Amino acid sequence: VALNNEHENFAVYDSEFSEGIQRSNELTDNLRHALTNNELFLVYQPQLDIQENKVTGIETLVRWKHDGHIVSPVDFIPLAEQSGLIVSIGEWILTQACQFAKQLVRLGYNDIIVAVNVSPRQFSHPQFCAMVRQVLKDVALAPRNLELEITEGVFMHNEENTLSVLQQLKTMGLHLSIDDFGTGYSSLSYLKRFPIDKLKIDQSFIRECHNNDEDKAIISTIVSLGKSLGLSLIAEGVEELVHVDFLKELQCDEIQGYWFSRPVEPEALIELLIEKGGDINTQTSQGFAS
Ligand code: C2E
Ligand code: MG
Ligand code: MG
Ligand code: MG
Repeated sequence: VALNNEHENFAVYDSEFSEGIQRSNELTDNLRHALTNNELFLVYQPQLDIQENKVTGIETLVRWKHDGHIVSPVDFIPLAEQSGLIVSIGEWILTQACQFAKQLVRLGYNDIIVAVNVSPRQFSHPQFCAMVRQVLKDVALAPRNLELEITEGVFMHNEENTLSVLQQLKTMGLHLSIDDFGTGYSSLSYLKRFPIDKLKIDQSFIRECHNNDEDKAIISTIVSLGKSLGLSLIAEGVEELVHVDFLKELQCDEIQGYWFSRPVEPEALIELLIEKGGDINTQTSQGFAS
């Protein structure tokens, strides 16, 4: 609120708050050079089909190596959103992820689906669809190997545009999922109007579900809602074997989380696919997480 009248009101901020602002301005300036300085890199986390026991997809997660440490996307994606840098950073992420997907297809993983997070500002950019189409063309990747993850936040502004963009993406043949499902404020009615393929059950429901009946009830309700709408379901943040067992029993399709694997760099992901991608029957209750 006070930002409208920055100078006059600045004195009323406590110093911790203004330090916070200064720090994020500095970070934003540094983020501006992160791409050209090669400071961004991608890691990938496998998604496991728990009915078929195989890796069906991977989620792309960006990392920023800055000043000798790794800055979390939780801290810099919001800055990239606010500054508009997300448009160029997002295009770089999509291109890298599609190139990696292409590499996996060439290795014989023809059905692999590489998921990429798309934040609201990126999604509402007028050239978003054209950019996605161009990247797929440049990389020569089939759209069926790509999934875009959007959050419920996207549905809350400009519904007309959202619908038209999603329909164009769907027509191109790629997959669409709702990330962090169950944590947003949007109405459920968008599920019947928008061409969504998959719900990603937010990790906050999974984390304690083994000793929390409310979490169990919410998860089970999301699974049956999704199933009755013909959507596929994946649970995020699966860390324990008890979670896997519970989700299997509910007939949830897929899981993602430290239990099976942390996000890893591309080379390690390829190794994981070669070693354990096809079969989880042989693993112990520790999963593959290390
Ligand atoms: P998200 O898309 O919901 O991604 C899942 C987050 O959960 C990732 O955090 C992942 O490392 C973490 N995670 C996975 N399994 C487990 C688990 O078993 N336990 C716990 N505690 N955490 C787990 P990360 O990589 O820090 O990313 C955080 C968020 O930042 C993402 O949430 C997404 O909203 C955003 N983000 C990350 N990469 C990108 C990107 O390339 N583009 C955009 N627009 N946003 C991104
Ligand atoms: Mg995601
Ligand atoms: Mg999520
Ligand atoms: Mg998220």
